[in-house]
Amino acid sequence: VFQLSVPLNFLGSVYRDLKQSLWDMEALFKLQDVNVTIKEPADARPYQYKGGEIRFENVTFGYHADRPILKNATFVIPSGQRVALVGSSGSGKSTILRLLFRFYDVQEGRILVDGQDIRNMTLESIRQSIAVVPQDTPLFNDTIRNNIHYGRLSATNEEVEEVAERAELGKLISQLPDGYETQVGERGLMISGGEKQRLAISRVLLKKSPIIFFDEATSALDTETEKALLQNINYNLKELRATSVFIAHRLKTVADTDKIIVLRNGTVAEEGKHQDLLQNPNSLYYNMWKAQEHHDHTEVEEGEKQTIES
Ligand code: ATP
Repeated sequence: VFQLSVPLNFLGSVYRDLKQSLWDMEALFKLQDVNVTIKEPADARPYQYKGGEIRFENVTFGYHADRPILKNATFVIPSGQRVALVGSSGSGKSTILRLLFRFYDVQEGRILVDGQDIRNMTLESIRQSIAVVPQDTPLFNDTIRNNIHYGRLSATNEEVEEVAERAELGKLISQLPDGYETQVGERGLMISGGEKQRLAISRVLLKKSPIIFFDEATSALDTETEKALLQNINYNLKELRATSVFIAHRLKTVADTDKIIVLRNGTVAEEGKHQDLLQNPNSLYYNMWKAQEHHDHTEVEEGEKQTIES
């Protein structure tokens, strides 16, 4: 038994490392089209955290040289603020995230994080500094505890439980007979979309990244759950002082952010706070807002009709 335990432990740690990288890979799966030509320079420096400000300066980029997706795009996401990226489908929102991860390099202009050009940074340091809450969270066939733990393998059990509480998973977990040791995933307890999202958020909180992207992270939830979760996220972001970026289609979910950046045809068409953008009835934002407002009303009316009929 003793002889066996050494290789098994060893295997266990390899397995955990493997799972960690799988989780990273899976989380990035939608963003990623791994580009092996991206290399760090010999004198690359680790990213030095100074608050998490993101700055795109005259960035031009296309996946193919003849079809630019971003054209001379310039914007700032200030340290510690909550900023939304909005714009029609295909306007380049996810591309911004991919560029920040340096899966591709810009063709013109530059991207600075805390004043440092990301091309001069070690790849690992910049990628480690950004966390993503994706639309659909990968769950492992493992315990709830381990599923959260993948956010940062060096975290203690206490830290895991603390972030679970913060993400409002505590109540759910306390009601389970095996608590944190409950198996989830395909072969375990099936948890709801909202619970999955909260698990994703607890992972990201555990990671303690200075920059967090929410990629349509709450889009699958019903309005009530989404509202509660967003309030909770905002509370936690304040505590973490993280810079957070919300990629969003539904403008209602980002109306209270510090700044909204509206993209159109690869450039920043408008930016500002919700109330200010709404002042101009000719603005793209105003029109997007009105279109969604109309859509929401239609949904409510149809909902009411159904209730009356049934
Ligand atoms: P959505 O709101 O639909 O998610 P988005 O604003 O995030 O859209 P991007 O995913 O950034 O848009 O895509 C911008 C454009 O780049 C789209 O026209 C898309 O087809 C194109 N594109 C995205 N990824 C690639 C790729 N790997 N190779 C070539 N073109 C791509």
